[in-house]
Amino acid sequence: MSRRKTTDIIAECVEQLLDHAVENISLPQEDVIYVRNLLLSRLKLEEPFDEPFKLDYDFQDSIARIVAYAVNKKIIDPGEELFFETEIFGMLTPPPSAITEQFDNVAADKSIEEACSWLFSLSKANNYIRMPDIKKNVKWTAENQRGNIQITINTAKPEKDAKQVLLESKTPTANYPRCALCPENVGFAGNLKRAARQTLRIIPVSLTDEPWYMQFSPYVYYDQHLIVFSQEHRPMELNLKSFERMAEFVYNTPHYFLGANAPLPIVGGSILSHDHYQGGSKVLPVFSAPARKHYQFSTLPDVKVSVVNWYNSVIRLESRNITQAVSAAGALLNVWSTYNAPEVDIISSSIDPVDGREKQHNTITPIARMNDRDICFDLILRNNRTDSKHPFGIFHPAEELHNIKKESIGLIEAMGLFILPGRLESETREIMKYLTGELRLDFAAIADEKNPLSKHLGMIMQLVNDYGSTLKPGEASDAVKNYINDTCEKILDTTAVFKNTPEGEAAFDDFMNLYTK
Ligand SMILES: [Zn+2]
Repeated sequence: MSRRKTTDIIAECVEQLLDHAVENISLPQEDVIYVRNLLLSRLKLEEPFDEPFKLDYDFQDSIARIVAYAVNKKIIDPGEELFFETEIFGMLTPPPSAITEQFDNVAADKSIEEACSWLFSLSKANNYIRMPDIKKNVKWTAENQRGNIQITINTAKPEKDAKQVLLESKTPTANYPRCALCPENVGFAGNLKRAARQTLRIIPVSLTDEPWYMQFSPYVYYDQHLIVFSQEHRPMELNLKSFERMAEFVYNTPHYFLGANAPLPIVGGSILSHDHYQGGSKVLPVFSAPARKHYQFSTLPDVKVSVVNWYNSVIRLESRNITQAVSAAGALLNVWSTYNAPEVDIISSSIDPVDGREKQHNTITPIARMNDRDICFDLILRNNRTDSKHPFGIFHPAEELHNIKKESIGLIEAMGLFILPGRLESETREIMKYLTGELRLDFAAIADEKNPLSKHLGMIMQLVNDYGSTLKPGEASDAVKNYINDTCEKILDTTAVFKNTPEGEAAFDDFMNLYTK
């Protein structure tokens, strides 16, 4: 039996992808001939495959074969695989206007929840969300003192591939799109600065009479991880309008929560340059945390106020009266912005010694969601001040916790979902070898700063001290997880502006009495 020609197999993979696109990416049957020709041309194939299917590949196998073929035939350079894959799936995905129309139709005929599910499935089927990568993430739940914390070691977010060095010659000189969130990313081919986004589809939403968009995050830190962003490229801000927008969004999209990072460095997220919110299906740990103490406003009688029993300082506002709830959130921002309690290290602003300007320190990480017909705001008090003893931030993890997480503790972590760097996956596997005795302990060698484990020296010493070095592999894995669980709890405790101590609780109570007065 003669071997099948490679071009036949690739042409068959093209047919398989077209089938998949009609089935799962809403490619209209009447566009199939057109898209087939685009694909054949890009792959330099002369004719399509016209026999019945022999392959039983799934679409991931087909695209992998097509990409490998393109490298082989020098259609693309090594290092360009992900760009090429995204380009191919971009051809298979209907244009933005068609996606928006279908989204609106599903929302009108069925429900907004079904429309969102449809777009989410499509985003997985066109590899905008690359599920095989996401599934490699390591996840577990830590049953800690003040409620469960969810932990994810995020191996899916691509680290710079060595091969990409080949693309250095393709470093862009233009600053386009201006940032990773600007709407100009839709359809963008990608370069060293910006990801390829031919598969991205965004849905327009009007919020406080302004043009905004929603899209899914390609890294899905939790189910249906959503980003809602302004059409205009403008910095993150937090004011009364922000609470109005969040309320409007969750009222119209009640199956999602919507939260924002604080608009200040250290306590904010990684993108402060473009105004945006993050949302998703509402299952995050802080939502299950119960109230610790209730308060009552003198002027906003319809709003229930409580302090939440959580690691950091969370105030919960609940009301069927959305106007009053938004007013209460705005009032909290006003009172907290200028609140000082030096005895517990809270100083709301200070003069920057470098430029002599006043710098704001007090801010809020807000999250809104619907509970049946009631709106619920969880408002986390934050402060980003540094001093000589805490150069990374008084309410930010100290250096000895940075081996686990160094980045700012934003919205998602503050709610109890830790996204830890992918490097920890291989590093913790090495650390386990010291606990099982597979590797001989040599603290001097570990401490050598060229050793990638040197940042974990304190962790290794502590673990060996607590557990010894004759553990079974399962025990070693549990020991390392326990250490990470404790560290995440410490990180959350550090971000508490009012500590969970008698003094901290008394200071929190003073603040709440002032706020609700
Ligand atoms: Zn932008």
